[in-house]
Amino acid sequence: MMDLNLHYPIFGPDIHCPHCRQLISALTLTDTYLCPRHGAFEADPKTKELVHLQSGRHWKLWQKEWYRQHTHPDGIRFEIHEALDRLYTEGYKATKVVIASRYRELVSSYLERNNSWQKKPDSQHPKLYGLPVEFSPDPIQEDCWQVINFNLEKEEGIPGRYPYAFKFFE
Ligand SMILES: [Zn+2]
Repeated sequence: MMDLNLHYPIFGPDIHCPHCRQLISALTLTDTYLCPRHGAFEADPKTKELVHLQSGRHWKLWQKEWYRQHTHPDGIRFEIHEALDRLYTEGYKATKVVIASRYRELVSSYLERNNSWQKKPDSQHPKLYGLPVEFSPDPIQEDCWQVINFNLEKEEGIPGRYPYAFKFFE
């Protein structure tokens, strides 16, 4: 008898769609999962990424959660913006953002451009939305920082005061 396990994609017989979180199944003998709403996702056994064929978006899995892998600074900026909004509605305020070191190059170019109006670009103390930015240590082997995008350090906020300097459209 054939071992059917060998024919499942790397993420197993089914996954939660990264867009709608619905449980979706792998197509037999392929690396593809099919969401009735979002179409085909392909698992790449080499990079351990899930690729949405229609949009070209990539995700990696960490502790059963999908993390979108960004290729443009706007993508990660927007995700941080959303997380700050969420924190704020939960009554917290972020004090620092730690960004995965694999985005250092991608984000640094943006952070420096963002400071270009200043006389001296302050690359020693980069900020995003008014928050100090740090980068994670370089991940070794199986480490969340190979997959997750950023982490926000937080404290309790002052109700009614929106603490972030949003300059999304420049
Ligand atoms: Zn879906």
